[in-house]
Amino acid sequence: MKIGILGGGQLARMLALAGYPLGLDFVVLEPAPDACAAPLAGHIQAAYDDSTALEQLAKSVDRVTYEFESVPASAVEQLGVSLPVYPPATALATARDRNHEKTLFNELGIETAPFAEVHDLAGLEQAVEQVGLPAILKTRTLGYDGKGQQVIQPGDELEVAWQAVGQVPCVLEGFVDFDREVSVIAVRSVSGELAFYPLAENVHRDGILRLSTCLHGDSHQPLAEDYARRVLERLDYVGVLAIEFFQVGEHLLANEMAPRVHNSGHWTIEGAQTSQFENHLRAILDLPLGSTKPMGHAAMVNLIGDLPDTKALLGLENVHLHLYGKAPRPGRKIGHITVREVSAERLQTRLADIDNIL
Ligand code: AMP
Repeated sequence: MKIGILGGGQLARMLALAGYPLGLDFVVLEPAPDACAAPLAGHIQAAYDDSTALEQLAKSVDRVTYEFESVPASAVEQLGVSLPVYPPATALATARDRNHEKTLFNELGIETAPFAEVHDLAGLEQAVEQVGLPAILKTRTLGYDGKGQQVIQPGDELEVAWQAVGQVPCVLEGFVDFDREVSVIAVRSVSGELAFYPLAENVHRDGILRLSTCLHGDSHQPLAEDYARRVLERLDYVGVLAIEFFQVGEHLLANEMAPRVHNSGHWTIEGAQTSQFENHLRAILDLPLGSTKPMGHAAMVNLIGDLPDTKALLGLENVHLHLYGKAPRPGRKIGHITVREVSAERLQTRLADIDNIL
């Protein structure tokens, strides 16, 4: 069985690494010549909207998935004519647009921060009246890792913020004074089997995820699963879905969703019975889903920018290093570390050891 993946970055690479033991092969469609999944897969080097390349991909694989949500809808449509593409196109269309995803959350009774659509400067003024300040102006599409965002404080010039985001369609979102950021990784198979991983608590630095810690028996788990189930079922979803939340007291406010394997689920490689990558593949192939139970106390630390002292890291017990084969560059995710320990206390000690090395 051959799986096609749109995108050839680290998520595609980790999907391939999880798929080989299941006897799967992979082909990635990715424009970059040095795609980090390329050494593990066939590589069609072309633009995502190159219809000849899409035809070549469709002919060489049994089904298609993707590793990022900005894939052109036309590519998914073209592929969908000849073979199954999961997650479904509607999920992609919803998740790539912040206005669509927040509207869907609210329709499904899932709380979000207050938000309003913004099309122009006059619209931004109205949105500020509606939502209040402080607030964050976010581009509707193509924003990630804090890019395409501008915080607006009381007294700020609205025109400056509007220029800063590039005068493109946006949402203005009320600033949430959250207690924590958490995410749920959920998975649904072709025949509708569902599974949920324990919530991860996420810490960001400069808008980029830095640390995800698997939570054991968190009181917000049932609500997060209920919310994720509503989305999965509404979208007739297949594959892994991640939803990021702001936790405020008993409430979970959905921030955004990703229709794919997600950075806050990387801890599952060594920290859960079955990784999110393997479960994504099982889901799209309609195989039974694997157990999502955690093994020990796990956390994931992203390696951003520079290559760390790998010798020192590997000298620590219960630390697992994942390097993606990407050239170091400021702000670039070049790998991650998973830590799995026998207790929450040991985990914190180990994370402090890692911090001293990074
Ligand atoms: P996003 O690209 O929407 O995931 O935002 C990146 C990060 O910016 C989030 O993980 C939060 O740490 C922060 N952030 C985004 N939106 C808000 C908000 N409405 N209120 C407070 N912090 C936010």
